[in-house]
Amino acid sequence: MSTRTLVTGGAGFLGSHLCKALVDRGEHVICLDSLFTSRMETIEPLLEFSNFEFLKHDVVVPYNFDVDVIYNLACPAAPGHYQYDPVHTLKTSVIGSLNALELAKRCGARVFHASTSEIYGDPELHPQPESYKGSVNPIGLRACYDEGKRAAETLMFDFHRQHQVDVRVARIFNTYGPNMHPFDGRVVSNFICQALAGDDLTVFGDGTQTRSFCYVSDLIQGCLALASAPDVLEPINLGNPEEFTMVELAHLVLEITGSKSKLIYKPLPADDPSKRQPDIAKAKGLLGWSPSTTLESGLQQTIAWFESIDMSKWSPPTPNWAGGLTA
Ligand code: NAD
Ligand code: UDP
Repeated sequence: MSTRTLVTGGAGFLGSHLCKALVDRGEHVICLDSLFTSRMETIEPLLEFSNFEFLKHDVVVPYNFDVDVIYNLACPAAPGHYQYDPVHTLKTSVIGSLNALELAKRCGARVFHASTSEIYGDPELHPQPESYKGSVNPIGLRACYDEGKRAAETLMFDFHRQHQVDVRVARIFNTYGPNMHPFDGRVVSNFICQALAGDDLTVFGDGTQTRSFCYVSDLIQGCLALASAPDVLEPINLGNPEEFTMVELAHLVLEITGSKSKLIYKPLPADDPSKRQPDIAKAKGLLGWSPSTTLESGLQQTIAWFESIDMSKWSPPTPNWAGGLTA
């Protein structure tokens, strides 16, 4: 019998790629999503397969299935959207993860949890290894996401120690690619959409803050490798260590699109991390995984996808997509 797999947040950017990879390898995939920050467009091609089902559901409300593996991805990931209803974001991370773990305990499933580099906050240590405990403002605008994800990691390892649930925890760094919501508000989708529309590219702060961008196909390979690895009972960083400033990213997007757009500078959002770069020694050593797509190549593929979509089918999930929120 084929593996029965539940993907929460399966209609989102990463979830849609993960569902496709799992359907392609013959697993029976149940995709659970409230469609808060996603649209059916991303998973429409999968609906024709008999080994794929979609259910609209909020993971804060308990659910029941008989599954072998649970990929716990449900959570808004773009700052504007997770700050729109911060209480629900925190509930989604904490109660959503609790519901996934309770189900895993009942049916003996393995849980793969999508954690984040945000648990390191605005890091004093650079690059960030998994042993770094982080520097998070517990009462700031980003706390609903950061602290929610930190609590979810606590739940993962407590369910393992207390109830022997088999857990895998990926700390995912900034990832981009096709199927990103065009009104997501994240830097890669914003810069691409602005460049293609001939609008100014909105650089927050002075644009010297850094991020390390991973192309989605690399990331999904890393997630699958971790999910199936035996006995990796510790968090693993997944990301591309190549680090860029936001001004460098803006110029690369302009160069690839051939856009004549200009850069305009807007206030830096509160608690925006000044730098971020994964130390992926553990992923290399334990999983034999490392990313291979350069930012230039990944951007070319992402830009081609944005050029191909019908923008009239997409609308902003919340009003918070166009600019950074300040305190
Ligand atoms: P996304 O916003 O595109 O996808 C999240 C999905 O979860 C959406 O389909 C949304 O509708 C769904 N969702 C949100 N709240 C829900 C709820 N209460 N019940 C059911 N569904 C709900 O974001 P993404 O980039 O695909 O991120 C997926 C996961 O990976 C998230 O948990 C995120 O924290 C994590 N992550 C992503 C990145 C990244 O760079 N993309 C980085 C670190 C961590
Ligand atoms: N950013 C920017 N312009 C935008 C959107 C974001 O300069 O239009 C900056 C943002 O301030 C942050 C970086 O780009 O420093 C990455 O932001 P994103 O929201 O993509 O991810 P996160 O901050 O969660 O890493």
